[in-house]
Amino acid sequence: PAAPVLPPGVTALRDLRDASVLRAAVAGGKRVVVLGGGVLGLETALAAAEEGARVTVVHNGPHPLGRNIDRGGGAVLAASMRNCGVRVAGNARSTGVEHNAPDGGFSALLLDDGSAIDGDLLVLSCGVRPRTELAEGCGLSTAAGILVDHKLRAHHEPHIFAIGDCAEVRCPDPECLECRTARGPSGLVGPGWRQAEWLAEYLTLLASGAPEAELLLPLPAELPGVIVLKARGLTMAVAGDVSAEPWDEEALCAGAADGRPRLQIAQWADPEHGRYVKMTTRAGVLEGLAAVGMPRTAAELVQLFERGAELPADRSLLLRLDGPDQAAAAGAADPERTVCRCAGVSGTKIAAAVTDGCGTVAEVSGATRAGTGCGGCHDDIKGMIEKHFQGAVA
Ligand SMILES: Cc1cc2nc3c(=O)[nH]c(=O)nc-3n(C[C@H](O)[C@H](O)[C@H](O)COP(=O)(O)OP(=O)(O)OC[C@H]3O[C@@H](n4cnc5c(N)ncnc54)[C@H](O)[C@@H]3O)c2cc1C
Repeated sequence: PAAPVLPPGVTALRDLRDASVLRAAVAGGKRVVVLGGGVLGLETALAAAEEGARVTVVHNGPHPLGRNIDRGGGAVLAASMRNCGVRVAGNARSTGVEHNAPDGGFSALLLDDGSAIDGDLLVLSCGVRPRTELAEGCGLSTAAGILVDHKLRAHHEPHIFAIGDCAEVRCPDPECLECRTARGPSGLVGPGWRQAEWLAEYLTLLASGAPEAELLLPLPAELPGVIVLKARGLTMAVAGDVSAEPWDEEALCAGAADGRPRLQIAQWADPEHGRYVKMTTRAGVLEGLAAVGMPRTAAELVQLFERGAELPADRSLLLRLDGPDQAAAAGAADPERTVCRCAGVSGTKIAAAVTDGCGTVAEVSGATRAGTGCGGCHDDIKGMIEKHFQGAVA
């Protein structure tokens, strides 16, 4: 079936044509309404506001990024968005659109409380869902996506594989623990790429008539998800589960036979200055983190989270990384850290490419594939190149 046709003045953000519609609206001084407070909606709103557009983000729930961040972090995030010039309309349920523009196009988003948010362009950013009609028509089993097992084979059709946004890894074994807690497709570049790499290797082995043992090559476990907002005026990182609050004993003691807390939470909030940090740990190791307006702390926490390393007992050491006196003292970035999460490229690999002569982000991308996904690491790569050449000049 053809893609649904959206009315004039309403667009999704899926391809370059959609992006050019948004760019024209921003350049023309139009009012932009973004429906959806997920990562894409927030990044779109911040980028448009930065270019001078009047932007409103409309989301349901008390704060944006409701699925990922906790209440405190969400509140500071919303306030920071406002500081960046974005209007944020929370707890809003949209019920329809009004088309009273002179050309019959979009003029307002209607909400269930009877109010309306006026605008000239509505950007729909309220989630994606694989279009499973084709797969269903072929008789494949689907849920949120095409159901595949741990070898990415469609259920009951071992000669059909699915990867990426249209695939949902959930094996038919009801006892499989991993699949019991599995969510649908990730909606991210990285996991699909890793599935593609693994599947290419698997199919090559299969075609070469490799023995059964070699075909047991397991699909690697996915890296823990980290969300970093790509925006200039606002830094935010969130990962893992940060829903429990420090005084929420029931959540902290869940599963503990002796009634002693299993989770520890350190939290610091300075809403006036747009700063917030939460560290949720188990035996000193991060299970969740949220950091708004604290770039160095965020970078350090993400490294500790990815490595599964223990935090210093004095958690305030981490907060101080963003103090004015700490710029020079901030710990050197771990060379082994993942710089490009989409392609899974470490700092070591990028440094080696730079040493081998790559002098631009494009050259590093060509040599390592770092930066070829979402592009969020371009500044990091640029920084590493500059540092290398500064060192060389010195
Ligand atoms: C604006 C935007 C920003 C994003 N930002 C990020 C980000 O920062 N970080 C991140 O990790 N992810 C991001 N994503 C998500 C990411 O792009 C997707 O998760 C990823 O592209 C999924 O890869 P895929 O190969 O499964 O599907 P796609 O990249 O969607 O590729 C599917 C391909 O199949 C083709 N196709 C579809 N139907 C048919 C058919 N019937 N016959 C033949 N071909 C067909 C399509 O034309 C397309 O080429 C973003 C997405 C968008 C839209």
